[in-house]
Amino acid sequence: MHQISVYQPDLSDKEREYVLECMDSTWISSKGKFIGRFESGFADFVGAPHAASVCNGTVALHLALLVLGIGAGDEVIVPSLTYIASVNAIRYVGATPVFADSLPDTWQVDPLDVERRITPRTKAVLAVHLYGGASDTIALSNLCAHHNLRLIEDCAEAIGTRLNGRHVGTFGHIATFSFFGNKTITTGEGGMVVSRDAAMDKEVRHLRGQGLADDREYWHDVIGYNYRMTNICAAIGTAQLERVDDILRQKTLLAQRYREALAETPIAFQTPTAGELPSYWMVTILTPTAADRNALRDSLKIAGIETRPAFHPAHTMPMYLHGHDRLPVAEDIAARGINLPSWHQLPDPDLERIVSIIRSFHWSTP
Ligand SMILES: *Cc1c(COP(=O)(O)O)cnc(C)c1O
Repeated sequence: MHQISVYQPDLSDKEREYVLECMDSTWISSKGKFIGRFESGFADFVGAPHAASVCNGTVALHLALLVLGIGAGDEVIVPSLTYIASVNAIRYVGATPVFADSLPDTWQVDPLDVERRITPRTKAVLAVHLYGGASDTIALSNLCAHHNLRLIEDCAEAIGTRLNGRHVGTFGHIATFSFFGNKTITTGEGGMVVSRDAAMDKEVRHLRGQGLADDREYWHDVIGYNYRMTNICAAIGTAQLERVDDILRQKTLLAQRYREALAETPIAFQTPTAGELPSYWMVTILTPTAADRNALRDSLKIAGIETRPAFHPAHTMPMYLHGHDRLPVAEDIAARGINLPSWHQLPDPDLERIVSIIRSFHWSTP
């Protein structure tokens, strides 16, 4: 019986050819033709005016917060139910993350809870589009406009996700993406900062490249970072981007097949936000109880099927535990959520094996 993994990138098309082009030309560092090609291709795909590549999604968040001028003394409201990078980046700039709860159906940040947590120190809202869904960026951008706050969109899990026909990442002031190995398209490690105006994009490029001055060699006019993407990573990204529509179509099909096959079980799926076209990054289910979650994961594991638990809420982790309220919805989703194998080429017999185990599982509540 072979193991079924939660995720697996597919590098079987032009990826190898483009990487070999880097090798043969010796352009393997952070200069070379694939950088610009990947950036402009990605900007077109998202429908944003500017996209700057960086070496991962976490530093993309760091730069986004820096260029918005967020720092010590500022508060940034962020959902607790997210990958830890969204929260840590707020600390990197010296600001304070303020955790908001999630909605029970879409699992996205609750705009009303965000509004309740606004104080005179609040500078920004960092919205995360979770598991391929979209957070309610319409409500959030209205809220931010009303309270004069910046809106940052963490789109790491939402490549291909649209809201009212627009790609997520185009609603706020700035947005970030990740191309880690398990993201919808990958560069191995990689990220992108998508911004609305040329000045912001210029500042992202300035900071990612050691704060190098425009007009003088080896002269650095701010403390910058080495956050650049390599040409090799951009080569992989360029090849991935050429078939992103195919990947998204297959992921959508897989998600639909899971939903149909598990319709008669007591499992809940993520509900789309109004106007959302999901990209189904991770097919995630909620079991009726936390005990069921753990027992079902055990049954799948015995059958050679890898799963992941939903994210632990950040406010329950040691470095963020102090002084935060309970967030009942985030805690409940975290206790009952499972990410199922979600890569777009999951073979049919594997899907059959997964759903048959879930369908024959003995639930603690009917
Ligand atoms: C993957 C991810 C990131 C950043 O990931 P990197 O591994 O640094 O590229 C940030 N936020 C969310 C929500 C993510 O899922």
